[in-house]
Amino acid sequence: MAHKILKRRGVLFVLSSPSGAGKSTIARRLLASDDQIRMSVSATTRPIRPGEVDGKDYHFVDLERFRAMVAAGDFLEWAHVFGHRYGSPRGPVEKMLNSGLDVLFDIDWQGAQQLYQNWGGDVVRVFILPPSLEELDRRLRARGTDSHEVIQGRMDRAAAEISHWDGYDYVLVNDDVDACFEEVRQILDAERLKRSRQTGLIGFVRKLMPQG
Ligand code: ADP
Ligand code: 5GP
Repeated sequence: MAHKILKRRGVLFVLSSPSGAGKSTIARRLLASDDQIRMSVSATTRPIRPGEVDGKDYHFVDLERFRAMVAAGDFLEWAHVFGHRYGSPRGPVEKMLNSGLDVLFDIDWQGAQQLYQNWGGDVVRVFILPPSLEELDRRLRARGTDSHEVIQGRMDRAAAEISHWDGYDYVLVNDDVDACFEEVRQILDAERLKRSRQTGLIGFVRKLMPQG
């Protein structure tokens, strides 16, 4: 929760997982339960899916526009994922951080790596694993958003994504969704309290110490 007395820098909170492990479910709960964190809406060249809203789920742009944004330095990070380009627009994130908010990123391991290279200590990377491949497959089917072929493609890519588990600060298993959400909550709460993020601490402590 927001600290009453001490100012702090915002956290760039990255959630990654193989598709179907439950990252969106947990991200949604986090955003709904905490008004100090906001989502970074990525830009992508992939086609919009039924039910998606431009500007809310993604900013859907064509390749020319995406390239122009890359050339202008408009992305904090960007990557090729599954044959399309995805990137995190810089402006909105800087604005949120400057107004004291934390920012949630639903990006892949390449994005997590780039963010970490550029923002270092303010980036917290969380990777969510499914309890088993059978359960991952079951969740993808139960979600009911994808055709058999798309589910097969997601399962084929799961192993490649899981192989990047060691590029993360925290690795969680989403067996029980309530328990996993609680772990994500605890990580965010503890990271917010880190001394290195407390920009108001030196001044505050000076006032508590007797004058020499
Ligand atoms: P992702 O964003 O990682 O692709 P989703 O959040 O869409 O995954 O979750 C995939 C499906 O699995 C959804 O239908 C979701 O409701 C369900 N789900 C998420 N976590 C759990 C869990 N711990 N146990 C059972 N089902 C889950
Ligand atoms: P989808 O097309 O299913 O929405 O997302 C595919 C993958 O792209 C997911 O693993 C998601 O985390 C990743 N992704 C979405 N936005 C970005 C982004 O801005 N940067 C990077 N590096 N990956 C992204």
